[in-house]
Amino acid sequence: MSSRIALITRLSKAAEDNWLTVLSAAMPRETIRSIRAMSTEELALVDIAIVANPDPVDLERLPNVKWVHSLWAGVERLVLELKGFSHPIVRLVDPDLARTMAEAVLAWTLYLSRDMPAYGMQQRQSLWRQLPYRSALDTRVGLLGLGALGCAAARQLQLAGFAVSGWSRTEKQVEGVATYFGPDGLDAMLKTSDIVVCLLPLTAETTGLLGAREFALLPPNACFINFGRGHIVRTNDLMAALDTGAVSHAVLDVFETEPLDEQSPLWGHSRVTVLPHISAPTNQSTAANIVANRVGTYRTNGVLPEGIDFNRGY
Ligand code: NAP
Repeated sequence: MSSRIALITRLSKAAEDNWLTVLSAAMPRETIRSIRAMSTEELALVDIAIVANPDPVDLERLPNVKWVHSLWAGVERLVLELKGFSHPIVRLVDPDLARTMAEAVLAWTLYLSRDMPAYGMQQRQSLWRQLPYRSALDTRVGLLGLGALGCAAARQLQLAGFAVSGWSRTEKQVEGVATYFGPDGLDAMLKTSDIVVCLLPLTAETTGLLGAREFALLPPNACFINFGRGHIVRTNDLMAALDTGAVSHAVLDVFETEPLDEQSPLWGHSRVTVLPHISAPTNQSTAANIVANRVGTYRTNGVLPEGIDFNRGY
């Protein structure tokens, strides 16, 4: 019998079936089956697993698995739950996802730079008042994270005329972007960013990274967008910074707990825009093609793909 690909998720059966259909269409020569439906004999034939928040116990049921492809871009849960897993875990890097995220970054950056929250508030008070125009050319956007998503966002922002800077863990050069790295670089970039956009992965180093000290470094009237992960921000510190006006508005798409608790004060805060984790949804069709390409390459050359780095956490 030929090798099998196991699909392992903690999604609903309907959502998993949907993925199964799309993945099977992208890889017609592969036998892809939900691990929920596999016999012991079949489990032994699995050499590749495709996963979405898998139960670690399920991966232990695959004695001959060689590598794993995740359907998500964020890997913090895999890093946490699969510590010690000895095979490569490849995360989703999809140019279509990067394009979608870059579009969201541009949309919400313009929302802030063109004062839409303030005009929304004025409308609710029937208040006709023209605020001073702030050009994109005079607006400095600081990107936290210059990876697949950060670099795509930088390009979109540059095209719209914004002055873009970016921060990463290691030193980087990105055309037209003022780059910073490491802890000192973070402070320097925050001091010169009118709008800060977080596109960082959640790791041991980035957990709680942004708190009172960091928000205090921002220039007057600065705004904050979080499209990375909720736990990167100390929410109480952000709320305090919003209340004092140190941060003038925050657009939040990710939260420590999702869905956001109905009782959360963020819902009703006049300086907060709450989004239900929609900045860059996975496109099933392009994601399936990315996975299919990786699987095809592996079938051709037998070389294990490079996986995420468990030590650095992304
Ligand atoms: P990526 O390609 O791995 O890039 C991560 C970037 O963050 C890199 O530039 C990296 O620096 C930087 N970084 C990591 N740890 C750092 C640290 N301690 N200090 C400074 N910089 C650090 O990841 P990506 O594909 O761009 O995705 C980023 C994150 O976006 C994902 O992990 C996920 O959490 C989030 N996401 C959100 C949504 C949504 O809908 N809201 C959708 C998709 C993804 P180096 O360049 O030096 O490595």
